[in-house]
Amino acid sequence: MTQEPEVLARLRTANAAYADQFGAAGVPGRAAQRLLLITCMDSRIVPHAVFGLEEGDMKVIRNAGGQLNPEVVNDIVLASHVLDCECIVIMPHTKCAMASQKLDGLRSALSTKSGKDFSSFEPRLIDEPTAKLARDVAELEAHPLLHEAATVHGAMYDVDTGRVNWL
Ligand SMILES: [Zn+2]
Repeated sequence: MTQEPEVLARLRTANAAYADQFGAAGVPGRAAQRLLLITCMDSRIVPHAVFGLEEGDMKVIRNAGGQLNPEVVNDIVLASHVLDCECIVIMPHTKCAMASQKLDGLRSALSTKSGKDFSSFEPRLIDEPTAKLARDVAELEAHPLLHEAATVHGAMYDVDTGRVNWL
């Protein structure tokens, strides 16, 4: 059996303390603030803390870059209908690794580092972050199946200041 990483022991301890003082029993699964956020998996972003929200307030979808892809779009369309997510925020961030690399360079760096063949690896790199965000907002707004009450908003999170700059 693989040995458990040391960090898991810390997670177990921290979670035991969290569960001991848990106060969110019975919170409904629908987002109380009717919010859905899509943001990057970047470890510097703590979504609920950024907006002063609590358990049950907001749905969060995360991926590399905080950007649309077909599967994410399906999730959002679904959430707009069955989870009452009326306010949808797309929030990538400054200094995102997905927006600071070129595909060829990334592929060769990964191949060199791992010894594996990354020549057909297709990460969703971002060329121009603000323009990409505007395109994602426009694409989602125009989706024919999105709930008609849903509104879509773009925002850029600044990892140096914690400030959200709205599109
Ligand atoms: Zn990122």
